[in-house]
Amino acid sequence: MSDPRISWDQYFIAQSAILSTRSTCNRLHVGAILVRDNRIIASGYNGAVSGTPHCTEVGDLMVDGHCVRAVHAEQNALMQAAKMGIPVDNTELYVTDVPCLECTKLLLQAGIIKINYMRNYRNDPFAAELLEQKKVPLVHVPFAAQTAKQVNLDQFIDPSQRSE
Ligand SMILES: [Zn+2]
Ligand SMILES: [Zn+2]
Repeated sequence: MSDPRISWDQYFIAQSAILSTRSTCNRLHVGAILVRDNRIIASGYNGAVSGTPHCTEVGDLMVDGHCVRAVHAEQNALMQAAKMGIPVDNTELYVTDVPCLECTKLLLQAGIIKINYMRNYRNDPFAAELLEQKKVPLVHVPFAAQTAKQVNLDQFIDPSQRSE
């Protein structure tokens, strides 16, 4: 019999994927989780500054091909930790998409020791150089079809919500 438990990597990457579905930017939907000792200590998704209009309501604010309205998921995870006074030194990041240069700089400066990502996205060469200089591994964790089967969110649907 196959083990019905998913691996830690798949567990965290799946949660970053679920977080990304809360994104309020019309561009890429990103989710990020900070993890220490296999525990989630902070999380974020990309969207407008709290309490200000969302991209989904007023449109993206595009500058040089990037939406500048949205705070990036990685930045939101770091800021959530800052707001709540949670140290992020020596933690790992799980994120749906390879962090941009600005996020990479902030993550390195905050003491993140490993970046696990699901998808490649506009990978920045200088960000890659910085990660190498700081010896922080950028590890691809593809979301597996087997995990989707094991997670099987359909099984949790309340019977009253089923149409048949
Ligand atoms: Zn946007
Ligand atoms: Zn970013």
